[in-house]
Amino acid sequence: MRKATLIPGDGIGPEIAKAAVKVVEASGAQIEWEIMDAGISAAKKGKPVLPDEVLASIKENGVCLKGPTETPVISGHRSVNVALRQELGLFANLRPAKSIDGIKTRYEGIDLVVVRENTEDLYAGIEHKIGNVAAESIKLITAEASTRIAKFAFEFARKENRKKVTAVHKANIMKLSDGLFLECARKVAKDYPDITYEELIVDNMCMQLVKNPEKYDVLLCPNLYGDIISDLCAGLVGGLGVVPGANIGDGVAVFEAVHGSAPDIAGKNIANPTAMILSAAMMLRYIGEVEKADRIEKALYDVFRNGENLTPDLGGNATTGKFCNSIIKRLRN
Ligand code: NAD
Repeated sequence: MRKATLIPGDGIGPEIAKAAVKVVEASGAQIEWEIMDAGISAAKKGKPVLPDEVLASIKENGVCLKGPTETPVISGHRSVNVALRQELGLFANLRPAKSIDGIKTRYEGIDLVVVRENTEDLYAGIEHKIGNVAAESIKLITAEASTRIAKFAFEFARKENRKKVTAVHKANIMKLSDGLFLECARKVAKDYPDITYEELIVDNMCMQLVKNPEKYDVLLCPNLYGDIISDLCAGLVGGLGVVPGANIGDGVAVFEAVHGSAPDIAGKNIANPTAMILSAAMMLRYIGEVEKADRIEKALYDVFRNGENLTPDLGGNATTGKFCNSIIKRLRN
């Protein structure tokens, strides 16, 4: 039995976490879940939004499957995700966006992976007010973090037999910060002559992704652009409900859907658990349970291919539970 931390999270989190746990169980993977509260769910029990015991559990188990957690806009607590990434040194955020047969979208044959730097940039949380008339947020880019994420992207590309890494930037305007990010990426690229390296300004990248997404492969992004671009990529393959993600550090990893807590549909049993299930499959692959991960993905893709019991975000009218049961039935056959 391998232990893993499970954070069901807020909003639709508990509904999709329940579905993912059932699917993992049906695959035969031997996971003992250590269930932990974080986010609003922890606050409601009088705990901090990211209790120390959660960090200790993830450090101990090495892996965590996490549901979305709510972050209030403007005032209120700091993002649990940002804190988790910084506390655990989860420097790389990996977000694959792949076309799924059976999900109707405007595009076909998309197979993109966003590799996003996860610890700095405008997300470092260094901001202050200047009286009541202005506010300043510092965009922090270091050579160390930029080199580390560039190496991660190229190593990933080589391991997964991918052909091209595109660095995304705005170094025409932010010449020093994005300029440093690019300098580091260029240096690292020289060690990987087998992989094509190119650079694109972020606004052009958005346009190119909407026009010709199949031309791109691995997108290497600083934190903010990576966050935005990965939602764009999610939209190309069927929306936020179907795109998984992983936050990876040294010997520790947190797997979670790209989407948030979807308060508009929480508690209605209609959330699409696909992104959470695919994140769980990524976790299984990370801990070496490759066969179980493959079986889960195959069962899920078969359900889509046959148009069975789709949730409302994909044009169907099935509940989360019904969709999940279709996958489990296939896993048990
Ligand atoms: P969201 O991703 O929660 O929702 C955006 C839209 O997509 C909504 O219409 C929602 O119903 C839909 N959607 C999202 N996931 C879905 C799913 N699995 N099935 C069907 N439909 C789905 O984004 P938001 O509304 O901007 O954010 C809500 C909250 O989530 C905020 O508090 C935000 O801070 C938080 N958030 C958390 C994470 C995380 O924990 N990783 C990520 C993003 C946002």
